[in-house]
Amino acid sequence: MNIPFVDLKTQYRSLKDEIDNAIAKILENSAFIGGAAVENFEREFARFCGAAHCVGVGNGTDAIYLTLKCLGIGAGDEVITAANSFIATSEAITQAGAQVVFCDIDPLTYLIDPEQIARNITPQTKAIIPVHLYGRVVDMDSISQIARQHKLFIIEDAAQAHGAVYGSKRVGALGDAACFSFFPGKNLGAYGDGGGVVTNNPDLAKKVRMFKNHGRIGKYDHEFEGVNSRLDGLQAAVLAVKLRYLEEWSQKRLAHAELYNERLAGINDLVCPQIPTDSTHVFHLYVIRTTRRDDLKAYLGAKGIATGVHYPIALPNLQAYRYLGFTKEDFPIASKYQDTILSLPMFPELSEVQIDYVTSAIQSYFSHSS
Ligand SMILES: *Cc1c(COP(=O)(O)O)cnc(C)c1O
Repeated sequence: MNIPFVDLKTQYRSLKDEIDNAIAKILENSAFIGGAAVENFEREFARFCGAAHCVGVGNGTDAIYLTLKCLGIGAGDEVITAANSFIATSEAITQAGAQVVFCDIDPLTYLIDPEQIARNITPQTKAIIPVHLYGRVVDMDSISQIARQHKLFIIEDAAQAHGAVYGSKRVGALGDAACFSFFPGKNLGAYGDGGGVVTNNPDLAKKVRMFKNHGRIGKYDHEFEGVNSRLDGLQAAVLAVKLRYLEEWSQKRLAHAELYNERLAGINDLVCPQIPTDSTHVFHLYVIRTTRRDDLKAYLGAKGIATGVHYPIALPNLQAYRYLGFTKEDFPIASKYQDTILSLPMFPELSEVQIDYVTSAIQSYFSHSS
C-alpha cells in the first residue's frame, strides 16, 4: 500500500463539479484580479473567523509582512516569535526591517513558551507572533496578558490553523490581526498561492488593502508606495467552495488524530500529540516524537508510507540565522525536538484502513527493534 502525506487529488475528485463550475465562472467573466469572487471570499472567510475584515493577499508570508508594515513595525523594532516554525514567520519580520527574537517552545504543546516571551521583552519589542503550529492554538490567555502589560501587538501566524477554536473564539479573532496562508497543502488550500489578513481593526484592514495593491486609492492614484500582493479571482473562487467543507474536514482530522493516538498508545520511546481540552486542535500535522526518528522514517518509507519533519532544523539553528550567534543550548527544547519529531500522513480523506496500515507498521517497527 502507498500512503501519501497529503492527498489533494482525492479531495479535488470529491469536489470536482463544484470546483470546475466555480473556475468556469471566473473564466467566463474574465475577473482574474479582484472582482466579486475575491470580495465574496473575503466576506465569507472573515465571517467564518468571527472577525470584521479579511483582506486577500498573495500568500501567507506576505500576510505577515504586510501586517507588520501596516502596524508601523520596522527598523529598530523587535518582534518575538517561536523557535519552531516555517521560516516564513521570521523571514517576514526581517523583510519588514525589524529584528527577529526567537523563543524556545513548550515541551508539551510544541508551541511558543509564554514564560520565554516574558524574558525576551525589551523596550524595543513591538509585537509577538504566536504560531499556531500543527493546528494547535497557542496559550493565548497568557500571551494576551503579556501583550496588554507591555503594550505589544499580537499577530497570529494562523497558516496551519484555519478554523481552530480557542475558548469561544476562532483563530483569526484572538489578536490584533491573524495571517493565513492558502498554500495548496494547508487546511484551507487554494490551487496556487494565496493568503489573507484577518482583523477587527478597520484602519489596519484599510491600510493592508492599499499596501498590497501599490498604495492605491484610485486608478493611477497612490497615497504611498506599497507592493503587488493580491489574492486572485481563480484562487478566491476555489477557496469559497472549499470553505464550505472546512468544518467537516477539521472534524475528520481530529478523529484521525484520536484514532492514531489510540492505536499508538503504550509504545515505549514514542510520544503522541496531546489533544487539548481548552481549544480545538485542527491537526494540520500529526506529529509524533521518538529518539529513533530517522530509522523509523526510513522503515515507513520502505513500506510506502510518506512522512515529513516539521521542521528538521529549528529556526535559530538555520544557516540563515547564523548571524544571531546562537548555539543549540540557547533553545534546548526546539533543538532536541528537531531530531525526534516525525509527521505522519494527515488529511481529511485518510481512511481507517490507511491509518491501520500506518499504525501497524509503527507497532511492528518498535516490536522488532526494541
Ligand atoms: C505555510 C506557512 C507560512 C507561509 O505561507 P505561504 O503562503 O507559503 O507564504 C507561514 N507560517 C507558517 C507557520 C506556515 O506553515
